Amino acid sequence: MRRFRMFIDGREIDAADHDEVIDPARGEPFALCPRATPAHVEEAVAAAARALPSWRRDEGARRESLAAVASVLLAHADEVGRLLCEEQGKPLAAAVAEVKSAARWFSYYAELELEPEELEDDAQKRVMVRRHPLGVTAAITPWNFPVALLAWKLAPALRAGNTVVAKPSPFTPLSTLLLASLLRDVLPPGVLGVVTGGAEVGQQLVTSPLVRKVSFTGSVATGKRVMASAAADLKRVTLELGGNDAAIVLPDVDPAAIAKRLFWAAFGNSGQVCTAVKRLYVHEEVHDAIVAALVDQARRVKLGPGLDPGTQLGPINNAPQLARVIDLVDDARAAGGSIACGGERSPGAGYFYPPTIVTGARAGMRLVDEEQFGPALPVLRFSDVDQVVDDANRTSFGLGASVWADDVERAVEIAGRLEAGTAWVNHHQDVAPFIPFGGVKQSGIGTENGVAGLFEFTSLQVLNVRSGA
Ligand code: NAD
Repeated sequence: MRRFRMFIDGREIDAADHDEVIDPARGEPFALCPRATPAHVEEAVAAAARALPSWRRDEGARRESLAAVASVLLAHADEVGRLLCEEQGKPLAAAVAEVKSAARWFSYYAELELEPEELEDDAQKRVMVRRHPLGVTAAITPWNFPVALLAWKLAPALRAGNTVVAKPSPFTPLSTLLLASLLRDVLPPGVLGVVTGGAEVGQQLVTSPLVRKVSFTGSVATGKRVMASAAADLKRVTLELGGNDAAIVLPDVDPAAIAKRLFWAAFGNSGQVCTAVKRLYVHEEVHDAIVAALVDQARRVKLGPGLDPGTQLGPINNAPQLARVIDLVDDARAAGGSIACGGERSPGAGYFYPPTIVTGARAGMRLVDEEQFGPALPVLRFSDVDQVVDDANRTSFGLGASVWADDVERAVEIAGRLEAGTAWVNHHQDVAPFIPFGGVKQSGIGTENGVAGLFEFTSLQVLNVRSGA
């Protein structure tokens, strides 16, 4: 079995203990990942603190380094993508595309020009706003987009002058480890460290006194624990948490025209997307046509191992998540939902579950109320727009939402009433390095991406200068 090493202070470091990493397409381990001890975490944080003074000094050099990171990612997209495909399960083409998308984040933050912030400038007085890095930053990531979500944190954190210790998910640690070793010649020692392991490793990072910022992506429950731990010494936190995105389909749509986009918005990455469509509200006039068109898409899609040519949907990433999806669909069935397609785990040892559409869904069903984070979509029929806006908002989540309609102005008006960090019209899940992204309510605190995402890794200093003494 392949054995991976951690990356601390510019060096590859092994550990005494290892955890198996499972190939979800086969349900079998294929690699070993080191389990960091408390001493490893301490050393990674100390190395990041040592690297800070020189790294924060020269913004020009940092921008050049970020551009070089983007080049390395593009040059090694196939290699990193293949490993990502093996550990995460997604189709190879999607994995390679994820690595290439990560390069875009580094290019964007390398090239971003920031205007000087001058609030007053006259003969007597100058008032300026300066932004300083926060210091050592912990970047904690989940298993659905391990490379892209790391880039969302790493690129702005490094541009702002912070150093970073990354902690990937134990389900998908390998692509992060490979990336760090590929960046060895591009980033000075200590600027990026990677420690691997489970909750205890993340917890130690969050409580380390030398860490001044935690950028976390994961579930709401863990996000709350991270925030509570970070409160002890008032570390800054950015929390990108779960979602239960509603998509509202109005009666003037052409079902055949939107079905494909709607299908992929719900089932792309096998539904394991924080902003996947997770509750589909369809107006009664087009309900049956939309369901039929989605079922048609589901039946034509090719489910299989990510490395097989032609695969469009891979397995669910891990056994607990597969068990959760099975449980939620079984619960919906028992509560009176109808399975329009899918609904049973695929045979074999891999964690495959076909795209599943449940009609007759309603609030109170766990599949509607909770985040499924998998390939199972509840469809809810509606007749009254004001009522459906209330229903869509009746949740503690607030990540994304969308409205689908031919009358775009009306859709925009309805989208503006949805309690979500992003509301899309006639599509869903569109993200880019320059577009701010974040959740409201319990879907998170703070913003990633864009200038706002950069500022999350800075503290603000006002320089207020009076001329003469
Ligand atoms: P998770 O919360 O279980 O784990 C996320 C990371 O936190 C992992 O690296 C884990 O090891 C670490 N961790 C666990 N306990 C910790 C603790 N006490 N202190 C510090 N770190 C700890 O989430 P997951 O199951 O890996 O990911 C799925 C969830 O992530 C879903 O809810 C999904 O919606 C969410 N997500 C959100 C976004 C977003 O941008 N809003 C993006 C992707 C995924």
